[in-house]
Amino acid sequence: MDHTGRIARLQARLPELGVDALLVTNLTNVRYLTGFSGTNGQVLVTSAAALFLTDPRYEARAGDLVDGADVVIYPARLTDVLGDRLGAAAVTRLGIEAATMTISQRDDLANRLDEVELVPTSNTVEELRRIKDADEISALREAIRIGDEAFTWVLDRLVPGATERAIALDLEVHMRKAGADDLAFPPIVGSGPLSAHIHHSPSDRAFEKGDLVLLDFGCRRSGYCSDLTRTVVLGSATDDQAALYDLVLQAHLAGVASVGPGKRGADVDDAARRIVADAGHGERFGHGLGHGVGLDVHEAPRLHRISEDTLAGGDVVTVEPGVYLPGVGGIRIEDCVHVTADGAEVLGSAPKDRLIEI
Ligand code: ZN
Ligand code: ZN
Repeated sequence: MDHTGRIARLQARLPELGVDALLVTNLTNVRYLTGFSGTNGQVLVTSAAALFLTDPRYEARAGDLVDGADVVIYPARLTDVLGDRLGAAAVTRLGIEAATMTISQRDDLANRLDEVELVPTSNTVEELRRIKDADEISALREAIRIGDEAFTWVLDRLVPGATERAIALDLEVHMRKAGADDLAFPPIVGSGPLSAHIHHSPSDRAFEKGDLVLLDFGCRRSGYCSDLTRTVVLGSATDDQAALYDLVLQAHLAGVASVGPGKRGADVDDAARRIVADAGHGERFGHGLGHGVGLDVHEAPRLHRISEDTLAGGDVVTVEPGVYLPGVGGIRIEDCVHVTADGAEVLGSAPKDRLIEI
């Protein structure tokens, strides 16, 4: 991964932020800039240098992982070394990440750095993270390939009597055995009426013949997340189930077709939402169409009615319309879509052409 290039792009943004340096405390942003993964680490980026700071537990790991920044180990607290480092770099205005830093952390910094003004900033590294390079796209493809394969594998296990909780565990174990570092998020397995719960937590409910089963899951590979939703039916689909699946599929395909560079997130959402609304189910599609996916499973940009984002080449977004009928069941179809220079490409190949009958 091109950590040096990422730090250089961040350094180029410091003047417009009105700061001499940025203290990066969001651990996903830390990973993006330096390659470090762990529970404690900060990056101090000045116009001339980048320092990765952590405590002794991570000294060896930082030596292995950190790229593009000099490693500084502090005995116990960041503020043990930060003042001296800021003084040496003549920093008087220090940007902090408003979404990550707690009020007590800010107060602590303010008390110990009396010569330095703290300047809240928002979404600076997150905006850089939107545009994925070739290495990132290939890591995403790997994570997505593992998820797609797990979906195909799990179909045989979706039988009457199997429980949501057991299937969620099966998916997790299978993806980890296939090389996933971790889950991207706890799998959603919703069956029968519970498939209508948009973010259902798997329960002990046993599947019954005729159930819709909604599976929404993903893994991490090299830090990058996959996010896949498919809905299947146990047994022969009823006409209503098949028609509802077809509607969601048409909305999904319309959403995918409207993704491209220069497209507004709100318009992409509308392209899919209009189809659902025209069929009379607008009220039953109660979430945004999609979200960016990368080192975080939910990141910028958003595809949503209230989104102010405009897509650009290098963005990767999910397209995931759904219709949820209370007491009956829900259907959602989700893929990750890569915005290219002149259009869009669906990453992944899990089948979706028709409602799979098991
Ligand atoms: Zn999902
Ligand atoms: Zn998603």
